Amino acid sequence: MSKRDYYEILGVPRNASAEEIKKAYRKLAIKYHPDKNPGDKEAEEKFKEAAEAYEVLSDPEKRSRYDQFGHAGLGGAAGAGGFSGAGMDIDDIFAHFGDIFGDAFGFSTGRRSGRKVQKGSNLRIKVKLTLEEIARGVEKNIKVHKDVICRTCSGTGAKGGGLTTCGMCGGSGVYVKVQQTILGAMQTQTTCPVCHGSGKIIKDKCLDCRGSGLVKGEETINIRIPAGVSDGMQLSLSGKGNAAPNGGINGDLIVQIEEIEHPHFKREGQHLIYPLYISIPEAVLGTQTEIPLLEGKAKIKIEPGTHSGKVLRLKGKGLPDINSRIIGDLLVEVNVFVPKNVSPDERRLLEKLNESSNFHPGKNGKNKSFFERMKEYFEH
Ligand code: ZN
Ligand code: ZN
Repeated sequence: MSKRDYYEILGVPRNASAEEIKKAYRKLAIKYHPDKNPGDKEAEEKFKEAAEAYEVLSDPEKRSRYDQFGHAGLGGAAGAGGFSGAGMDIDDIFAHFGDIFGDAFGFSTGRRSGRKVQKGSNLRIKVKLTLEEIARGVEKNIKVHKDVICRTCSGTGAKGGGLTTCGMCGGSGVYVKVQQTILGAMQTQTTCPVCHGSGKIIKDKCLDCRGSGLVKGEETINIRIPAGVSDGMQLSLSGKGNAAPNGGINGDLIVQIEEIEHPHFKREGQHLIYPLYISIPEAVLGTQTEIPLLEGKAKIKIEPGTHSGKVLRLKGKGLPDINSRIIGDLLVEVNVFVPKNVSPDERRLLEKLNESSNFHPGKNGKNKSFFERMKEYFEH
């Protein structure tokens, strides 16, 4: 049996917007929902078929592959750890797309499990790092202000910790509605509107948290930052964000990296750039000089006749790549220092030098700019 076209299944044009696709799927999912069509194999197949079509068309990348290559373009798409419409279980569909139904449609998201688990909100912090810390990787203990479980009521929100079983749903958190239709009794399940799925209600509110189960608190969190991070990168620490009431799961802590400007180095990806200034005589005669590294120092040799803009490369003295751990280079950019004012003696010396043709750029004296040299460097 050949596979039906996904757009045809959802009944939308090929240029349908994400919103139109979502709407069309929701309509079909409700129409063919297994709770509405108990024992109807054909409806179940249609329900699965729609879920598969939605899975592809709601994902911009998969949709574009499908548009170009059809079903063949999705060959391995539902592979490792993925979600495949073919042969999937109805529960998988709920686990995957539960949210789309929403309570308004009469289906609870945790259909088989009943009670809903609340999740705390994510917390965002910024961490400032020096290049030295970025080079090595660093561990930081950072104090964060966050929602924590109220100790007085242990997060229940009830005075004295006393909760009462919800009378509406009998503690299940699920409200079952039975409707009489021409096809007979039809059951729909929805999250209980009184207890919002927790199965319990508060009789008297806790005074410390006013019934929310949460209070503002502080926590010192140990954060391990790997070597090689860069400005703007985000690390996510699962479960280190704000707490959730009623035994829910904590949100995540999102750590945003900020790079502190270094007094000596400019960062260029994994490479560091160090501007070195030498005198005119040093440029002509050559010299040895010491330059700072992220850790320690290095001696470098300036060859006689070094032009301003020459770049010397110190391999492996840059920053590590966060994934490959390969370390970048330190690029020493040589600048010849030219004084603004000179004494009468210096002026005489310079004028004397200027008489020598050796001090004038000849046909072979190609004065390349710094950018031309950098370009050459990176192209090699
Ligand atoms: Zn209830
Ligand atoms: Zn409380």
